[in-house]
Amino acid sequence: MKKLSAVALFCAAALVATSCTRPSIEPVERKIMVIGIDGMEWDIMGPLLEEGRLPTFARVLSEGAWGELRSLDVLESPVIWTSIATGKLPEKHGIMGFAKKRPAGGQLVPVTSNVRRVEAIWDILGSKGWSIGIVGWLATWPAAPVNGYLVTDYFNYGWAPEQNSEEERVTFPPGLVADIEDLRVLAEDVDDERASALINGAVPEDGVLRKRFDSLKACIATDETSHSVALRLADQMPVDFYAVYLKGIDGVCHLYWVDMMPESGPPISDEEEAMFRDVIARYYEEMDGVLAGFIEMADENTTVVLTSDHGHSGPKPAGDSYRWGIAMHDPTGVLAFWGKDIAGGQELADASVLDITPTILALCGLPVAEDMDGSVLTEAIDRDFLRSHPVRTIETYEPEGGSEGGDDREPIESPIDDEVRERLRALGYIE
Ligand SMILES: [Zn+2]
Repeated sequence: MKKLSAVALFCAAALVATSCTRPSIEPVERKIMVIGIDGMEWDIMGPLLEEGRLPTFARVLSEGAWGELRSLDVLESPVIWTSIATGKLPEKHGIMGFAKKRPAGGQLVPVTSNVRRVEAIWDILGSKGWSIGIVGWLATWPAAPVNGYLVTDYFNYGWAPEQNSEEERVTFPPGLVADIEDLRVLAEDVDDERASALINGAVPEDGVLRKRFDSLKACIATDETSHSVALRLADQMPVDFYAVYLKGIDGVCHLYWVDMMPESGPPISDEEEAMFRDVIARYYEEMDGVLAGFIEMADENTTVVLTSDHGHSGPKPAGDSYRWGIAMHDPTGVLAFWGKDIAGGQELADASVLDITPTILALCGLPVAEDMDGSVLTEAIDRDFLRSHPVRTIETYEPEGGSEGGDDREPIESPIDDEVRERLRALGYIE
């Protein structure tokens, strides 16, 4: 008894002592799982949630903290995903668009990772000893070394160089590419039966219907690749910080929006409308299943961040015609936090894509950098955790002079540039 109270007394004294100086922050034991879904839109999710067609999304929202997500002024995905990963505005992180014109020849080169000139959340956490796993995140090729593994977005394009040399770097570590190559699905690998799960009626034989049906396969292929790579690596190499990017929802919204809402664009045939009307809704249902798989992997120590980069709102009337591509992106996306130390059932009032990295840092018990443009979404975080781990700040995580570089970094050309450009063109992103 005596011994016990002596211990209690000592603890009380220690508590007083620390609170008199500064709060001591205990190291946080946590895993973070970021699930990035390009172009996810509340206006599409709302009715599907009401109809009970998205049970996993519904669970994440009811048990988690969620809200509208304010995107950037520039609604180009690599720009926004880089702001999500850095907490910084484009003029600081350096990635300003899908592609950059070569000054001499004027050729558009898809933007590449070397153009980013500030630390990403995975660089910061990795330097503090957190193990890292990244799959498919935009603008990560060529793969810079991380404290774990990184499968770049270029792996999806069917490029898996055997040597995966210093110049190629489709994955980090380089040897990883050989271990996951069997999981790569290309559009031509997707059979008609698989794609037909997303349409109404029989697989079209030829003509416009057939062409539009085949376009679906590219969306399916990239997501199936990233999904299966992410699941295998999560199983084989568990990490503390895990992020996966899925692009299919954005693709189907570009391709089948008008079939879903015929009054929103130029006239289409009755056959097209009948066949493709439900593609987007069914794709969301499939994504619900994908999300379920990730949620299943989350143990009691895991906090999940579910985010899009922007929403979708269809083609925009412009005189006698319509603007497609980036004009279809809506500045409001979807954000949700779920799992350990998240305030359940909390609606977030004013969340920005810039707040995601600061909030992850706070959840990891690390200070937020003053040179970041977002702030911690404290209403998403459990009160008890915030009390024991108050938000702290430091000046910067950048190495000295790190973010001071000029705007002159040029993207690196790759053997798949034509394919990347073709895909950007197909979605109306570049001319
Ligand atoms: Zn898009």
